[in-house]
Amino acid sequence: MAFSQVITANGTLINRVSTADPDLFWALRGGGGGAWGIVTAWKLKLVSVPSTLTTFNVWRTGKQALTDLVFKWQNVAPQAPPELFLSLYMAGINTGGSADVGASFYGQYWGSIEETLALFNKIYPELALTASNCKQGNWIQAVANIAGVSGPSALVDRQQSSRNYFKAKSDYVSTPLTKVALAGAFDVLMKNTKGWIIFEPYGGVMSQISSSAIAFPHRAGRLFMVQYQAVWQDDTNSPDSELIGWLRGLYSYMSPFVTYTPSRTTYVNYIDLDLGDSVTAGKSYFGSNFARLVKIKARFDPTNVFNQPQSVPVSM
Ligand SMILES: Cc1cc2nc3c(=O)[nH]c(=O)nc-3n(C[C@H](O)[C@H](O)[C@H](O)COP(=O)(O)OP(=O)(O)OC[C@H]3O[C@@H](n4cnc5c(N)ncnc54)[C@H](O)[C@@H]3O)c2cc1C
Repeated sequence: MAFSQVITANGTLINRVSTADPDLFWALRGGGGGAWGIVTAWKLKLVSVPSTLTTFNVWRTGKQALTDLVFKWQNVAPQAPPELFLSLYMAGINTGGSADVGASFYGQYWGSIEETLALFNKIYPELALTASNCKQGNWIQAVANIAGVSGPSALVDRQQSSRNYFKAKSDYVSTPLTKVALAGAFDVLMKNTKGWIIFEPYGGVMSQISSSAIAFPHRAGRLFMVQYQAVWQDDTNSPDSELIGWLRGLYSYMSPFVTYTPSRTTYVNYIDLDLGDSVTAGKSYFGSNFARLVKIKARFDPTNVFNQPQSVPVSM
């Protein structure tokens, strides 16, 4: 973000926060929603993208095969060149009445299909990616492919095709999981087909920015973010308690393998009321940046006008 304009809790309009108050500008970049004021304008710095990109998606199944593939993924995706994004979605599946696990390895590479296959052949031949798993196009076509829609025009279609409800939780991993730990996670996944786990690689440009440069703290050393999600369709929006219990069980299973600084680290965009009040959750979301965020909050909004249950509080 290059610039933002904000109305603060006492009604002041700050025209150019980046120069008028670097502290508030720091907090606005990663310090969570619903805490700082009303953002009335912002300007983003754009980055150049290449004219040709490749998106890919390959589906693999089988607990044993996936244990080996995912174990290797942990040493491939976070260390890959910054031009490659290789994410991983895993879920319990039911094949012919028996429970198993399936995984989608998906992402994009800033280059042609040929270049993509050459890179995978070098760094991850075990995945056996082929041209039939890939689509080549420009950047906006790649966005549509990753979003899973028919093409760029579908990105401006504001109609929601179906409605789901979900609960999400998250973690960070800094030390690769062992094969035994991964196989145990698959055992939990196989107990349910209404939820999944996503490993989203960090590294690349994410790790070149210091943890204190902006409020978002998860930088060098984080291998990947883990997203846990359980989904239901009930129109009454009442959570399926068995499903939520399963999701919490999966999160609990992962507790020995994830990152603590010293609170269990969490991604603020997957807000999670299970973490507790705004102080306890804030330490998980913001780590060592939390204390500075609380001081900035106390200066700009001492009566906590802008709040939600886990927004940065005025005191710790
Ligand atoms: C289906 C789905 C998929 C998602 N996928 C991803 C993903 O891939 N990656 C990711 O990072 N996150 C993802 N998220 C999470 C999403 O990024 C966060 O929920 C985010 O907070 C949404 O912001 P919003 O402005 O759309 O929502 P809102 O709920 O409108 O806003 C979020 C917070 O910002 C505040 N706010 C809104 N407008 C303003 C304003 N003008 N000034 C000041 N405060 C304001 C609100 O009060 C609220 O506290 C996903 C969410 C959903 C539902």
